[in-house]
Amino acid sequence: MKAIVKDEPAPGLSLKERPFPQIGDKDLLIKIQKTAICGTDIHLYKWDEWASNTLPVGSIIGHEFLGVVEKVGKDVKGFKEGDRVSGEGHLTCGICRYCLTGQRVLCPNTKGVGVNGDGCFAEYLALPAENAFKMPDKIPDEIATIFDPLGNVVHTALSFDLVGKDVLITGAGPIGLMAIAVAKHAGACNVVISDLNPYRLELAKKFKPTAVVNLKQESVADVAKGLNINSTGFDVCLEMSGSPQALESLGDLTAHGGKIVILGLLPSYAPINWHQVIFKMITIKGIYGREIFNTWFQALHMLQSGLDVSPVITHTFPALEFQKGFDMMLSGNSGKVILDWTI
Ligand code: NAD
Ligand code: ZN
Repeated sequence: MKAIVKDEPAPGLSLKERPFPQIGDKDLLIKIQKTAICGTDIHLYKWDEWASNTLPVGSIIGHEFLGVVEKVGKDVKGFKEGDRVSGEGHLTCGICRYCLTGQRVLCPNTKGVGVNGDGCFAEYLALPAENAFKMPDKIPDEIATIFDPLGNVVHTALSFDLVGKDVLITGAGPIGLMAIAVAKHAGACNVVISDLNPYRLELAKKFKPTAVVNLKQESVADVAKGLNINSTGFDVCLEMSGSPQALESLGDLTAHGGKIVILGLLPSYAPINWHQVIFKMITIKGIYGREIFNTWFQALHMLQSGLDVSPVITHTFPALEFQKGFDMMLSGNSGKVILDWTI
């Protein structure tokens, strides 16, 4: 089969022929239809320090996908050939105290599909059935393909009550963009998003936030003054940029009793004004991945009740032209990029 592989310990990716994956008794063989490029794949592409310490050279990358079940392991229940599925890319151990108490999201032995071993940027993927998620027919292919990052957004945004709350999102990458839609759908009052990238801020407007803030031209505090912000700052701040400057700004911008939820991959040591955190009694929560499968059902039910994240998908390329997709992502002038394995 054809696969997109990190073939050498250097930047870039190659298209290679690989044997079909073997499945075990508890696995599904999935024929891939569409995949999406994640920021993680960009790290793997660039082969930065994290990537070179994480992905074994020779691995197929990718973890965001939609496919069809082609073969079912003999111990698998609940799936059959022809089922349309996406899947959770975090493989959990099944035996730790978290897995055994229904909190797979906290498993310390988590391994990533396409991150610690072979992934889904290929014609076929072998996946434990316990990680597969059946997609109702009504969910369009492209949206089904991005359930993993949508799940990151839903997990982050729904960590705290948003009804009637003023929400600040720092970072208008694909994740922050979808967060506008999710926060509004969940009942937020003002939703403000900041970035420095004009392309992304234009794209953000398609989600109709209360305001977009171009940090090169204005500050969030100044924009907030012109809005009907209910409290002493934003009730809930969603950090989705991975920028230390963004985190640092949140001490001032968060309301008394406010919440800061951090999904953006910050450096290990990023500053924040701890006096603000203490005296305003701010709650800070970190987010990793998705609750399996609570987040998946929350995302599904929000889509079924009218959530629309489709403007985040800006480009689709045939999978064999994957380089164009990576170039698009590397330029910063894209939302989500889809690779189509059916054309
Ligand atoms: P992205 O890199 O495409 O987007 C980040 C955006 O933040 C960019 O548009 C950038 O211009 C903007 N930005 C940079 N500095 C900023 C600042 N000071 N203020 C506001 N915006 C700023 O990333 P993405 O794919 O949208 O993902 C968002 C973040 O979430 C990344 O850091 C990613 O690594 C992280 N992530 C974490 C998890 C997890 O499980 N914790 C899962 C998925 C993604
Ligand atoms: Zn575990």
